[in-house]
Formats: sequence, C-alpha cells, structure tokens
Amino acid sequence: MLSITMKTFQSWPPLRQWLAQKLRLDVAPVIMPLPKGYSEQRALPFLWDIIRSMLLGRSVTIVAAAIVSQIFVALQPLGMGMLIDSLNQTLIAPNQPDKVALALATLAIFWIGGAVFLLLAELITVYVRPQLKASIKARLFQHLMGQSPHYFQENMPGRLAQKVTQAANSGANVYYLLTIQLLQTFVLTLSACILISTLSTDYGLILGLWTLIFIATTLAIGLFGINWSKGLQNAISKVSGQLVDSVNNWDIVRSFARVDHEQRNLATALNDEASWIRRVRLFFISASMLQFGLGIVLMGWLVLKAIADTRSGNMTVGEFTMVCALGMQMFAALRTFSNNIINFFSDYGALKDGIELIMQPHGLSDDASADQLIVKKGGIEFQNMSFVYPNGTRVFDDLNLVIQPGEKIGLVGVSGSGKTTLTRLLTRQYEPDKGCIQIDGQDITHVTLNSLNQAIGMVSQTPNMFHRSVGANIAYGASEASDHQIWQAAASASCVDFIKQRDEGLATLMGEKGLKFSGGERQRLAIARVLLKDAPILLLDEATSSLDSHAEAAIQEALKTLMAGRTVIAIAHRLSTLIDMDRLLVIEAGRFVEEGSHHELLRRGGAYAALWERQQTSSLVLPVQVPKNSMPGG
Ligand code: ADP
Repeated sequence: MLSITMKTFQSWPPLRQWLAQKLRLDVAPVIMPLPKGYSEQRALPFLWDIIRSMLLGRSVTIVAAAIVSQIFVALQPLGMGMLIDSLNQTLIAPNQPDKVALALATLAIFWIGGAVFLLLAELITVYVRPQLKASIKARLFQHLMGQSPHYFQENMPGRLAQKVTQAANSGANVYYLLTIQLLQTFVLTLSACILISTLSTDYGLILGLWTLIFIATTLAIGLFGINWSKGLQNAISKVSGQLVDSVNNWDIVRSFARVDHEQRNLATALNDEASWIRRVRLFFISASMLQFGLGIVLMGWLVLKAIADTRSGNMTVGEFTMVCALGMQMFAALRTFSNNIINFFSDYGALKDGIELIMQPHGLSDDASADQLIVKKGGIEFQNMSFVYPNGTRVFDDLNLVIQPGEKIGLVGVSGSGKTTLTRLLTRQYEPDKGCIQIDGQDITHVTLNSLNQAIGMVSQTPNMFHRSVGANIAYGASEASDHQIWQAAASASCVDFIKQRDEGLATLMGEKGLKFSGGERQRLAIARVLLKDAPILLLDEATSSLDSHAEAAIQEALKTLMAGRTVIAIAHRLSTLIDMDRLLVIEAGRFVEEGSHHELLRRGGAYAALWERQQTSSLVLPVQVPKNSMPGG
C-alpha cells in the first residue's frame, strides 16, 4: 500500500507535466497561419474557418455536452413531479409499493447529469477560448501587415490595433454564446415544450407559440441592436484613435502648447462614446422590459390553467408542480436567452466591424503565379511609366529610365518633384497605372513582394526603429547575425562610440520609435541595419540628412563601402553628398530634365548648375544684418 502511494508520489511531477501538456494550459496556443490569398470578410465564415481547421473536435464535444446537460435539466421538473406524486401515493394508499426511492434516484440523476455535463462543456471552453482569441488576432495581424501603404494612411494605427483586439474578444464571446449559452436555452425550451405536450397538447401548443413570439421579438430587437452596437464600436475606436494620435505626437502638442486643444478634441469623442453607451444600454433595458411583460403573461396563463385543471381532477398535484416548474424554468431560460441574444448581436456587430475593416482585400498583393525575384546583376528599368496617386495627384507621365547594374544614381530636384514616389514605386508600395518597372528583366508586379523587399535595402530620412534593443534593431534584416557581425556593421556605420556609452550596450532599449537616440544616431543605426541586410539594390532617401558634417564625414566612407558593388539610387538635397555618383538625374514635376555627372552638369550651366550655385552661396556664412529698431521694443 505504502509502496503504491510512494510510486504515485514519485511519478507525480511527470504526471503533472503530462496533465498540463494534455490540457495545454502552460503552452502557447497553436496558431495556424492564414492560407495564401485568404480574405474572408464575413464574420461567421471567418470564425468557422478557424474552428474547422483547429477546434472542430473540441467544439463538437462542447456542443454535445451542452445539449445532454440541458436535456437533463429539462427533465428535472418531471423528476420532481414523480417524487411528489409518489409521496402523495404513500399517504393516500400506504399499502401500494413505495416508489419514493426510485423517484428520488431519478431526480438525483437528472440533477447530477445536468451539472456534470455543463461543467464538462465549460471546462473544454477554458481551453478553447484563449486559443480562438489568439488565432483571430494572429490571422487579423497577418492580413493587416500585408495591407498597402494607402490603407495605413487612411486608418489610424491606434484604431487598427483596437479593432484587432475588439474582434478577437467579441469572436470568443460569439463562440461561447453559440456553443453553450444560446444552445442551452434552445435545447431547454424545446425539451420543455415536448415534455409539456406529453401532458396536454393544449399546453404544448400554446407554450410553443409563445416561445416563437418571444424568440421573434428578441431577434428583431437584436437585429435592430446591431446597428447601435456598430455605432458604439465606432465611437470607442474613434476615442482610442484620437488618444494614440495625440500621445504619438506629444512633442508637437507640447511645443505648440496645445494640450487644452487636444483635451477638447478628446472630450468631444468621449462625449460621443458616452452617449452611445447610454443609448445602447437604454435600448436593451427597454427591450428586456418588453420581454419581461411577455413572460408574465405566459406564467399567469400557465399557473391559472394548471390550477383549474388540478381542481377539476384533470391533473395530479405532481403534474401541477411539473407544469409550473417547467414554465418557470422556461421563463428564466428565455430571460437569459434575451440577454444572451442581445450580447450576441452586440459582439457579432463588433466582430463584423473589425473583420470588415481588417480583412479588406489587399490593395497590392502577390500574383497567384508570382515568382521569386532573382537579382544577379541589379539592373533597373522604368518603362513608359505613368502614375497617379489614389487622390488624383498625377506624378509621372510616360517616364523612362534605365539604370545599369551597379550604377550609382543621384536624384536631384525640388521638394514635390516625385523623387520619393519613384522609390515607393520601385519598392511596390504603389503600382504604376501604365508601363512597368523591371529588375534584371523581371517585372516587379509579377514577383513576390517578399523577394522584392529582400532585394532592396533602404535608408530613409526619418528611419523608424522598434522599441526593442539596439542589437535587435541592427540585426532586424539578418536575424541569424552574431554579435560580432552586429558590432562590425555598427563600426562601419560609426555607431560604436554612442552604443558603448550606454551601460547596456547592444541590449539598450531604443524607446518608442527609437526616441532615446538622436536623429543622427538613428540614421547611423539604420545604415548599420541595411549593411547587415546586404541587399543588391540600395535606396538612400536623404540618408545623411540628420547628420552634422562631422558625423557625415565619418559615415561617407561607410556609405562608400555599402554602395560598392550595388545598384544605388540616392536622393539628397545637399548636392555635395552626391558629387561621386556615376550619374545625376534632375527631376522637375515628374520629368527628367537633365542628366550627367556632377562635372558635366556644372559645365552645361543648366538647372543643376543653378541649384549648385545657390547651395554654394547659401552655405557661406553671411553676417545677418538686423535693421535698426526692428527688434520688439527696440
Ligand atoms: P519629393 O520626394 O520629390 O519631395 P514626392 O514624391 O514626395 O516628392 O511627391 C510628389 C507629389 O506627390 C507631390 O505633389 C506630393 O504632394 C504628392 N504626394 C506624395 N505622397 C502622396 C500621397 N501619399 N498621396 C497623394 N499625393 C502624394
């Protein structure tokens, strides 16, 4: 005996581990990736796709357990009636066989069965709900990350994040309501109607009719409520969008001393949200009062008829108890049903809203037959390309440009002439309306976006950083990079000194958008990041604009190393940074008006020479003449 106990004790830790693993309580939920090209925008099919692919067995068990449990619950009044009648019988006819024990045992089975099966359903739900939530979030996130830049310009990031969370919570609630709560009421009501019908068809018919009226009014209320709940969800996400926008731009708010203004804006959104909450709650409370009225009518009718039938001898006291208990059970169940259906429609509204927004088809996506882009040389060609932004701004009209493999191009032009748009088209953030762009002879619209993005390294004017460690940011495009390689890249981009100044070195957290580092430091880190990515094509959009001349001199050498052997398109306002480029292209309103090397263009004495001249003159430090008496109070 002792040895058995010891054995069980010794095997307890593995047993405990086994249990935890079986229940998957301590492991991350399994997330199935989204099938390629998936864009289901309807809420229930979206939910069903997840359930079908990973939760079908468990869901069927939950539904079966919930049905069995409610059949037991519906039978309880029958057991109670049997018990009362058998007790009555022992009083009226004591010499008849005593059926009290049998009736009691039957009632006990109905009670215990109802509770145990419901508990089983609830237990499985404990496992399923978090997994369902995680899968909804993962799928929405995956689809969201493939949306086009235009989509992100149209929708605030805060609002999008809020919609993902909201849809996941509501999806899990909808699942719970459908598989347990609504189903429970449905089975209970149906069983009660059938049981009462066995007693008298009159009772069954009237109860059935009443149930239909009740469900129809509840559905009508719920459907009407969807729109209200949609309004409420929109008001909620407007508040969070507004909050995130203000918090993201806290520095502008502060420097313009506009805290009051932001607070007033938020107050308007908050008032709107509060008034929607009030409206929705009042609507649902009024609806529930209406349903309560319907319930009172039913109960009144049922009890009065049952009293009359018992008095006239058509019913035993046990049957009277059963009818009243069934009626009360149905009344309670339908009241829960009305609350549940209201919750269902409100959650369904939120789920639908989130899925419709996030699952919008991708503006730009891979062709079904898209190939991997293979860059052997790095030649780029823009052929008869025209492009208009979705808002109607025309930028290019029949543009042609051939960039030889390994050629270094400098794009020069005033602000708004189309330089950044050209790089956006090359990285396929937008697609040309006419013509095409080819890399090594492959049309970039027919290759996968991933392979295109892997082939292009980009350093922009305001490089964004993750709120992660410096090391993780540098190695973002090369997750396998060793610390040694990260330090090497950091050294080539002149980052070592300022990283070493931080106590935690490469492990230092960069802060939101990298704000714990200066603009110049962030730009050098971005260069190190691209160095590690090691892509054959390089886009430098004002890559050194945040650097002072001392830092710039330090990384010009690094940039030279970076550019060696790669095809480069560099944009810079400071023309001195482009002198060594193989070819400079001067762009005006989307057209190339001049091209040649720095010296050729100077000799030509055209637009570039004029721009160069202007920059040379303005870079001379001239004494500022302050007119007399021009100072305030002067
Ligand atoms: P540059 O980089 O030379 O300063 P851009 O390529 O950024 O010029 O802009 C070219 C033109 O396209 C400008 O008229 C600008 O207002 C417009 N533009 C830029 N981005 C967008 C956008 N997302 N939606 C609509 N128009 C845009």
